[in-house]
Amino acid sequence: MRPGAAARWPWVLYLAAGAVLVVLYYLAPVTAGGFPLRVVLYCLVSASAAVAVIVGLAWHRPKPMLPWLLIAASQLVYALADAIFYLLHYALDITAYPSLADPFYLAHYPLAVAGIVLLIRRRTPGRGLAGLLDAGTLAVVAAMLSWLYVIGPQTRLGAPLLVEVVSLGYPVMDLALLTVALGLLLGPGARPPAFLLFIGWLAAIMTADTIYVVQQLNGTFQAGNFLDAIWLTGNLALGASALHPTMRSMAEPSPVPDAPLSPFRIAGLSAAALIAPTVLFVQWAGGLVRDVPVVAGTCALLFALTIARLAALVSDQRRLAITDALTGLHTRRFFEAQLPLEIARARRTGGSVAVLIADVDHFKTINDRDGHPAGDQVLVEISARLRGTVRAGEVLARYGGEEFALILPGATAETLPIIAERLRHEVSGTAIPVSAQRQILVTVSVGTAVFPTHGTTPDDLVSIADRALYAAKAAGRDQVVFGRAPSRADSTGGGLDYLHLVADEVDALLAGRQRSRAVARLARLLAVESGLDDASAGIAQLAGRLHDIGKITVPRPVLARRSELTEAEWELLRAVPAHGARMVSIVPGHTAVAEVVRQHRERWDGTGYPAGLRGTEIRAEATVVAVCDAWVAMLSDRPYQAALTADQARAQLLAGRGTQFDPTIVDVFLGLLDSGGLPPDQVAPRQRTAPITAPQA
Ligand code: GH3
Ligand code: MG
Ligand code: MG
Repeated sequence: MRPGAAARWPWVLYLAAGAVLVVLYYLAPVTAGGFPLRVVLYCLVSASAAVAVIVGLAWHRPKPMLPWLLIAASQLVYALADAIFYLLHYALDITAYPSLADPFYLAHYPLAVAGIVLLIRRRTPGRGLAGLLDAGTLAVVAAMLSWLYVIGPQTRLGAPLLVEVVSLGYPVMDLALLTVALGLLLGPGARPPAFLLFIGWLAAIMTADTIYVVQQLNGTFQAGNFLDAIWLTGNLALGASALHPTMRSMAEPSPVPDAPLSPFRIAGLSAAALIAPTVLFVQWAGGLVRDVPVVAGTCALLFALTIARLAALVSDQRRLAITDALTGLHTRRFFEAQLPLEIARARRTGGSVAVLIADVDHFKTINDRDGHPAGDQVLVEISARLRGTVRAGEVLARYGGEEFALILPGATAETLPIIAERLRHEVSGTAIPVSAQRQILVTVSVGTAVFPTHGTTPDDLVSIADRALYAAKAAGRDQVVFGRAPSRADSTGGGLDYLHLVADEVDALLAGRQRSRAVARLARLLAVESGLDDASAGIAQLAGRLHDIGKITVPRPVLARRSELTEAEWELLRAVPAHGARMVSIVPGHTAVAEVVRQHRERWDGTGYPAGLRGTEIRAEATVVAVCDAWVAMLSDRPYQAALTADQARAQLLAGRGTQFDPTIVDVFLGLLDSGGLPPDQVAPRQRTAPITAPQA
């Protein structure tokens, strides 16, 4: 049987009917003799709660069933106890205490406690330490009060053993129930109406039990007083809770491990902790200091609980402060705390440390196209890929929104390129799913700096890596820039940015998206490998990126056709390097780059253009760019020729060794190729599918 729309009402009807019974209970005459109506009404209510729990269970089928089964059993036993009590009392006229009803009354507590403990366990992800400690604090205070004002006086009555044991059983059981009830109340988890009714049940029976014991002790208890109303209402609340449609969600795990430490909770805990010293003060003021050991013990326990709570909070805060919520990586704060330590260690041991900052390319496009949640998903996936590349002792942090930073102890200017390229490829190697239907290729730009090569302080290293990252972006993204990049100050950013756009435009004209970026990346690798210094490597890289921008002056049909060109059209093509160089030379501080662009079509044997330079007359960077340009072109589909395989391209390079190309540079390049030192995407014919991050042609 499943609850339909009608299931919304049974709990209200049940409460209403129950309220009528309670009113009737107080209206019913207290007759002497016979079986009074009151007793029937009382038992009807407590039994109805058990039935309501069972009906609620069958209706809502909560998962798991066990907690509610235990609670149903508890209420059944309780109703049975009521029936036995009144049967003995009124029908059989047996008024001895304890009676057969007491074992039943006492037995219903452990069942309820077990059910509630299971509920708490289900609701609490992790250990739920905070809730336990808070509940423990209040329970300890309650235990002290109970000891001082209920249990202690009971034991001093000098009653027969059986009476004493049973009388102590109630406050002890109530304490156990109170402890788990507090655990439920102070722990995490949803608080739907069913939960509030459930708490209402616990609060009612514990309040009534406590007042009952106190009234018993000071002799003011009268059967049928207001306490019955509290007990009955509590029973009704339990029944209504089980009938309420939200009862299923009571056992749902909470999304957060702990309920927050609200000001209200802090006030409550403080007030509770103050009760112990207050009690002592009251006893002292009254001239009867009797319970020092109990109060002192309580204070010590409270103190220990408070310290434990504090320690848990501190460790939580620390974990939160150093862990990024979205990606689970370390935070920037942690990175910034670790870097000085690693530098100090490297300084002590004479070692090195590298800093690497990676920024996702065109990340805004992903957010714009696929939505922010998809963007988040991409960040999580990139984090996982990066995490796969770090080893013990290395620090990987989320440095900003879509920026990641690494500390690599022991990495040197020599080993870093391999690590950085591996990392870059790890991110861009395979597509990332952003929805059931769509996958995208995502690239990163990376800037690096090494202690002590590039800088000796944390600030220096980070700012050099950051500037290198900026240079990687400027050079076309999806690449790594190592160490000290030409600073923004000595170039006029606007002019250079414009030239990058021209380079993209030319790439699009040639239908070879990203071609100039590939040349730039290879040129840097090859320059470094050939032993050129950092500055020359930077020049080679930028020249690689800009080498073809002169083609913007050539009409499109001429570019698309290589055979049957007229002599005038050939003139246009031969002017490309000089045009490009002129465009670059407009940007202040880039004369060397302009020169390399001018010379990249010169040939080693002196038959090239525009100047017919020969051998070492040609700038080393230009011989580097020439090889890289040829390599990338050969591996691309061109209007007049399909892409070559790596082996065919390799044969072409060898054929041109010493005639078209600088023989040493060809050897170094082929050495890189054979040792796997080239980016994996540069050793196979270029695929036509470009990453979505590519500018649209
Ligand atoms: P590029 O770095 O290649 O220059 O381009 P970009 O589009 O990545 O540019 P930029 O670094 O300026 O933009 C970063 C964007 O990342 C801006 C911001 O909306 C987005 N972002 C930052 N943090 C988060 C995040 O936690 N989740 C998502 N989905 N987006 C984020
Ligand atoms: Mg970005
Ligand atoms: Mg950014």
